[in-house]
Amino acid sequence: MERFCKYCNEIFNPRRKNHIYCCSSCKTLASYKRNQYKYVSGHYQKNEIVPSEKINDSLIEQKNITASIPKVANDKNRVNFNSVANSVIGNLAADSLSYGLKKAFAPNSIPATKEDILALQKDINQLKLLLKVRTH
Ligand SMILES: [Zn+2]
Repeated sequence: MERFCKYCNEIFNPRRKNHIYCCSSCKTLASYKRNQYKYVSGHYQKNEIVPSEKINDSLIEQKNITASIPKVANDKNRVNFNSVANSVIGNLAADSLSYGLKKAFAPNSIPATKEDILALQKDINQLKLLLKVRTH
């Protein structure tokens, strides 16, 4: 009994009843197609997870960390200077503090680049400057 190969549509004579491909290469290629393999320079390769999904995962992770330390954000309310610099100091303190806590509790979740550290140093220096202005 002849039938059509499920992959290449050639007529073939199956040796067994459950054969649906004309040859082993059609069977292999069909399986590649089914599993979303890609033909990459001479061989088939299984599609990797899209990198952007991994990036999204780590972003969600960071958001969770931020959400899990809401007390840090509230700490800025304790800075009760009667000055225009209040909110500035508060924000700087909260930012620096939350950064520091994140770094302490989940150092791997934050890629501390040179820019990050420089920005943090700038924040701290500004904070020092503002505190100096306040206390002298
Ligand atoms: Zn075939």
